[in-house]
Amino acid sequence: MRRKIVAGNWKMNGSKDLSEKLVGSIRSEAGTLDKGVEVVIIPPAIYIGDVLVQAENALSVGVQNVGRWQSGAYTGEISAGMARDAGCRYVLVGHSERRQIFGETDELVAEKVSLVVSSGLTAIVCVGETLEERESGQAEAVVAAQVRAGLASVPAGKWHDIVVAYEPVWAIGTGKTATSDDAQAMHAAVRKVLKDMGAPSESISLLYGGSVKADNAAALFSEPDIDGGLIGGASLVAKEFMCICRSFPVGAEN
Ligand code: PEP
Repeated sequence: MRRKIVAGNWKMNGSKDLSEKLVGSIRSEAGTLDKGVEVVIIPPAIYIGDVLVQAENALSVGVQNVGRWQSGAYTGEISAGMARDAGCRYVLVGHSERRQIFGETDELVAEKVSLVVSSGLTAIVCVGETLEERESGQAEAVVAAQVRAGLASVPAGKWHDIVVAYEPVWAIGTGKTATSDDAQAMHAAVRKVLKDMGAPSESISLLYGGSVKADNAAALFSEPDIDGGLIGGASLVAKEFMCICRSFPVGAEN
């Protein structure tokens, strides 16, 4: 059975105060969630320590990005090894904001994925098409190419440390969400690409991201190839985020 995951990407939002209150509130209800659901908090790196204290091992913690090196004279960077040392379990790699604003390429994504999994962490690898690519009928080809290139360097035996998040760029932070049918079709396509790459595709969790809210999560999470969500804006509001975490169909098995 695949892991069901709801990951909250705070982006460059939050504060010490929010880290305590929001995570404290999520953690206090974590015990009431379906046992198979893993909740991951991904705050700005500077708040990782505060979040880990509040999480009390009931929630997993991740970082939004790591550098392409493990240590050295790279002012401002943090490494995958440091993230693990600090107590993180997850790293976001290739978020569309990193690709678009910071110019990250598929090649760099592949390098980072390899460093992340070699450091004993799980990489949540983000892929997704722009509106222009969707409207011109290239969505599936674009996403398939991102999956193939971004995961080209996963070492043998490390596939269990890979999660793929399909996030259509046009849906991130816009209030527009893919229909559950379209999202399911893309997740099925991603799973097929993984299979063709020789990965254990049926055991890799695939998350949907892009304006997931309390009122659309249940429809998305009931699709057979969607194993959870990567949540931006709604992860900053405890009630909304917990509602999303409760949106898996009861007793559903993939
Ligand atoms: C994200 O940042 O990955 C994201 C999906 O954001 P939002 O939920 O706000 O669209």
